[in-house]
Amino acid sequence: MRAYLPSYQLLTPQNVADAVELLARQPGLWKPFAGGTDLMVLLEAGKLEHRNYINIWNLKELRGIEVGDTQLVLGALTTYTEIQSHPVLRAEFPMLCQAASETGGLAIQNRGTLGGNIVNASPAADSPPVLLVYDAELELLSTSGSRSVPYRDFHTGYKQMNLQPQELLARIRLPRSTKGLAHYYRKVGTRKAQAISKVCFAATARTNDELLSDIRIALGSVAPIPIRCVQTEKALRGQRVDSLRKLGRDALAREIVPIDDIRSTADYRIRVSLNLLDDFLTTLH
Ligand SMILES: Cc1cc2nc3c(=O)[nH]c(=O)nc-3n(C[C@H](O)[C@H](O)[C@H](O)COP(=O)(O)OP(=O)(O)OC[C@H]3O[C@@H](n4cnc5c(N)ncnc54)[C@H](O)[C@@H]3O)c2cc1C
Repeated sequence: MRAYLPSYQLLTPQNVADAVELLARQPGLWKPFAGGTDLMVLLEAGKLEHRNYINIWNLKELRGIEVGDTQLVLGALTTYTEIQSHPVLRAEFPMLCQAASETGGLAIQNRGTLGGNIVNASPAADSPPVLLVYDAELELLSTSGSRSVPYRDFHTGYKQMNLQPQELLARIRLPRSTKGLAHYYRKVGTRKAQAISKVCFAATARTNDELLSDIRIALGSVAPIPIRCVQTEKALRGQRVDSLRKLGRDALAREIVPIDDIRSTADYRIRVSLNLLDDFLTTLH
């Protein structure tokens, strides 16, 4: 059943200062509305419980991609279309561009934002594993100023996160330290486009004299939150590339805890995750 529109409010502040002022006035009363691609689905289905929104779509301060010497900074409102066409992202963070190109269809890519994907906090979302592997950092803004949170510490439980009701996600920072890394990203879903992931796998690694020196692995849809597989990374780090497969499979099988749901089964998700790790490790030979 569709929602009853007059029971909702949407305010459009002129700048970020006004937006955070509104959020602070009665913490929890107002919530940001960015591209609306997650929120509108709930509205259409009559399941959007929260009633009061702040339209942040026009806030210029939350837009743009800045290229600094040591980091790349994306405004929270950066869309998937903008991500895919950015030359530095394509060269240094190719998995983010690939995830963006496999997120929804063109309309969603034009309207959906990276910030919305992060705060919507779906364990099946496609950008989070990539952001975990690239060691992203989030900048959160409120009337008290800004604070930084490493993305790996942001999701604390299913749909729970290190974000206060009066805070706005303003920027996502990516350290420019990907030179020489091998990148591997796979989204496994029922079909190529417009499908929610059954498993989403992102990994990078560096090899030095046949030894694995810098390996990072993250997965989506295999736990209540997107996870960085630090135990698997630890098991593989410093090992010879040709001896890795069993070691990696055993460690990853211990580290992920997928569930059965309408999209897939836990068993399938484990098998696919292990196969993707195998495939990734094979590419390093
Ligand atoms: C047909 C369809 C296909 C889709 N396909 C995919 C897919 O393949 N992969 C995938 O990962 N997702 C997919 N999505 C989900 C959605 O498009 C993404 O999660 C998108 O990035 C959400 O961004 P948004 O700006 O539209 O968020 P919104 O809907 O505006 O907001 C989502 C949530 O984030 C909060 N929020 C937004 N911005 C901020 C901010 N700056 N600070 C604090 N809170 C904020 C809002 O309050 C809300 O709770 C799909 C959705 C649809 C409808």
